[in-house]
Amino acid sequence: MSTPVVTRFAPSPTGFLHIGGARTALFNWLFARHHGGTFLLRIEDTDRLRSTPEATQAILDGLDWLGLDHDGAAISQFERAPRHADVAQQMLDSGRAYKCFATQDEIQTFRDTAKAEGRSTLFHSPWRDADPASHPDAPYVVRIKAPRDGATVIHDTVQGDVTIRNDQLDDMVLLRSDGTPVYMLAVAVDDHDMGVTHVIRGDDHLNNAARQMMIYDAMGWPLPVYAHIPLIHGTDGKKLSKRHGALGVEEYRAMGYPATGLRNYLARLGWSHGDDEFFTDSQAREWFGLDGIGKSPARLDFKKLDNLSGQHISSTDDAALLHDLQGFLSATGQPPLSTEKAALLEQGLYCLKERAKTYPELIEKAQFIMADRPIVPDEKATEHLDDVSRRILQELTPHLQTATWDRDSLEATANQFAADQGMKFGKLAGPLRAALAGRSATPSVFDMMLVLGQAETLARLTDAAQGGG
Ligand code: GLU
Repeated sequence: MSTPVVTRFAPSPTGFLHIGGARTALFNWLFARHHGGTFLLRIEDTDRLRSTPEATQAILDGLDWLGLDHDGAAISQFERAPRHADVAQQMLDSGRAYKCFATQDEIQTFRDTAKAEGRSTLFHSPWRDADPASHPDAPYVVRIKAPRDGATVIHDTVQGDVTIRNDQLDDMVLLRSDGTPVYMLAVAVDDHDMGVTHVIRGDDHLNNAARQMMIYDAMGWPLPVYAHIPLIHGTDGKKLSKRHGALGVEEYRAMGYPATGLRNYLARLGWSHGDDEFFTDSQAREWFGLDGIGKSPARLDFKKLDNLSGQHISSTDDAALLHDLQGFLSATGQPPLSTEKAALLEQGLYCLKERAKTYPELIEKAQFIMADRPIVPDEKATEHLDDVSRRILQELTPHLQTATWDRDSLEATANQFAADQGMKFGKLAGPLRAALAGRSATPSVFDMMLVLGQAETLARLTDAAQGGG
């Protein structure tokens, strides 16, 4: 039986949930869920100055919104510092690490000399092979005994075999002179203790892998599978930065992208399954594998995001979509919908969700539902409510009063009325849109009438016919 898959997402809580981090989390989550494995969350909060509870909360909120649930409680790396120090001690005991008493000045002098002589400036500590009997009673750091010859090969699932010459690896510090563990030690120990089988992360950590592997080797631990994913680039092909626009997942949420759409889009940023662009969550879980991750950086493409987002909105069932819309309103600090408006909106979603790429677009199209009487027409709609149009609306109203309130009858009534007036139905549509929604671009007038119901429709037509004096 093969070992169950364990993956992890290990964000540093120093800001928001970065879109690249969210993609890393998604890949780890998909991989674990695909294999029926475990997805763990570790908060890398060892940088006490930069880590804040608010940033941790922002990460948790972002993951929660994206539906990336982790198994078990989130682990705090900082709280595990005693265990990290314990592992360093074990390496000392086994002779795979040593106490280094070199002062900063001595290290600097070593580097200056090495530079002047054109040698590598990687520090070679004189304490590496020193007899412990010669140790002074002075502050020291604990360093790992890095291999000096040969090469370290990272067998990376995405990048292939990556070879790093060992003379480029120094005897890195494991414990600082105050006894606190360094980040590299913490990551390796945590990944091992958490039973992580697959480390899937950004390729900015590729070089770290070689260093972390030294710790695994010194401890005799089995290595995880590494998969270093190319970073996301901006639309211009350059490394993603602020000037490319939104970086934090919460910004995408605030722009009104549905979580399902963003998740679909993020999955496609660097991973592919044939030509499939639009897919559901369960398809992504079923299809995901490390072999689908590309070697070259994916580019942000807002058009694609809009497109996928629109497809997810239109394929979400009405009750779920209403729920998501309410979540969007609350997350963006907008007033909640009244029970009546919510019910009306749910009834109207069938004609609203087809072409909306984001929730704000959908809400804009739902203006005829959101607005209350008297409907105040915007500038363009006002042009459709001149004297002639108002008289037409007034004359149409009694016909609608007696009409059966279904699509066929409404269409027949309106067409007959237009024919009697010797005009095309198109002429009627403008004033009707203006009267019912106060806008010139709306869903079809019949959809609006059906959603609003007869009484409200007639009341709005009467308002418009009478308005303006
Ligand atoms: N905390 C690191 C980061 O935020 C990730 C470390 C890892 O995945 O090994 O980039």
